[in-house]
Parts: sequence; structure tokens; C-alpha cells
Amino acid sequence: MKFKFSRIDRIVEPPTWHTHIGTFVHEVLEHFYLLDAEERTVEAVKAMATERWNTSEWEAQVTALEKPLGSILEFKKTAFECMTNLWKIEDPQQTELINMEYELFTDVEGVRMKGYVDRFLYDEDDGKLIISDYKTGSIPNPKFKSEDDKYFQLLAYALMFESADQEETSKLQLLYLKHSANHEISVTPVKLAIARGVIVETKEAIDQACATENFACNKTKLCDWCFHKPYCPAHQ
Ligand code: SF4
Repeated sequence: MKFKFSRIDRIVEPPTWHTHIGTFVHEVLEHFYLLDAEERTVEAVKAMATERWNTSEWEAQVTALEKPLGSILEFKKTAFECMTNLWKIEDPQQTELINMEYELFTDVEGVRMKGYVDRFLYDEDDGKLIISDYKTGSIPNPKFKSEDDKYFQLLAYALMFESADQEETSKLQLLYLKHSANHEISVTPVKLAIARGVIVETKEAIDQACATENFACNKTKLCDWCFHKPYCPAHQ
């Protein structure tokens, strides 16, 4: 049902405090990693944050939020902590990225897929790809999200790289900036096969739902955070 609301009915969710922090941090780090390695210091990320704040008029964007969760100062503080926590995860002067915000548009098992990869680099050990994703939210509770679910998006990117660029991936990294934590896994044929299966099953379920106009509601505790809850049939 959530898919129907967002992709078929095209109901656009307005930005929130948390999505704005994520977008701002991604924007700053993307520009920061364009600097030469020796220039990538904490002072430089601070200067870059100021530059992006002004260029993209972030103050106006944060002020326009319907439900701000704090002051402008608190927004900046949270975002800046995420940025500087990067140094607890990796040494930016030793990290050479191949590309950032990279668009992938290809077929996986006959399913048309599109995605934007935050960043990727080559694994020095085997020359394969390491795909990373910045996260500014909390680390998911394993009680509510399995490891396969947690890495599904990045496994899908690995399959898309294979299909579009004939590039193999060795590792996937979720960089939880708020918690200074790097969660990573090695990519295995079994994990890729599971992700392939999920993609095909999901496409079949969507096709069937579109044909019958019967979209299933997945009613869980997470509905409390769903933007569509006020008009979702599961809650009427
Ligand atoms: S409220 Fe729950 S069931 Fe309804 S669309 Fe959102 S997540 Fe799905």
C-alpha cells in the first residue's frame, strides 16, 4: 500500500527534520570528497558546511519545515557532529572514492531498476567494488530489521553494477555517522541470490497488485511513522 501511495498515486511526502539533516550531510560530504586528499581536514569540512549552507539556502529550507524538532543551531550541531564523526570511521585523507551520487539504471533479472549510489571505491585487496551508504539516522534494531533487509538496497546496487558495468562488488558499508559506526559485510553469491529473488518477487507482487487493484497493507508498529497513515485503509 505504501508503494501505491508513493509511486502510483504520487503522493509526495514533505521533507522532515531528519531527512533534511541527511540531505545536508550528504551534500557537504559529496563536495568535501572532491577536495584533494591533503585538504580533507575537519576545518575544511566545517568551511564546506558553511559554503553549502549558504549556497543551497539551507536556513530557509529548515525554517520552512512544518514540524521542526529544534532550533537552527541544533540542526547545525547535529549535522556537524555527523560530519566530524566520519573521522572516527575512516581517514578521509586515505580514502579515495571512485565516484559519488552515481546513477545506476539497468535491468536485474528482467526488472528495470534505478538507483543513486552515495559513493564507491575499489577494494585494494581484490580490485572489486566497495559500495558505501551514509546513514544519519539510528542503527536499526535487529529485532525489527534482519541483516538481509538492512543491506538489501546495497545488494541491489551490487547487482545493478554487475548488470550495467560488469563490475563485481566485494563489500557493502553502512556508515552510521550519528553513531560513528561502520557496519559492513562481504558480498557472497548467496546474498546476491537472495536479493535477486526479493527483486523478482517484489516485481511480481507489484504487477499482480496493479492488475487486480488490490494492494496489501503491511500493518505493523512502523505504521506510526508512516506519512500515509491518516488515509491508509488499514487504519480506518
Ligand atoms: S500506514 Fe502502515 S499499512 Fe498503511 S501504507 Fe503506511 S506502512 Fe503501509
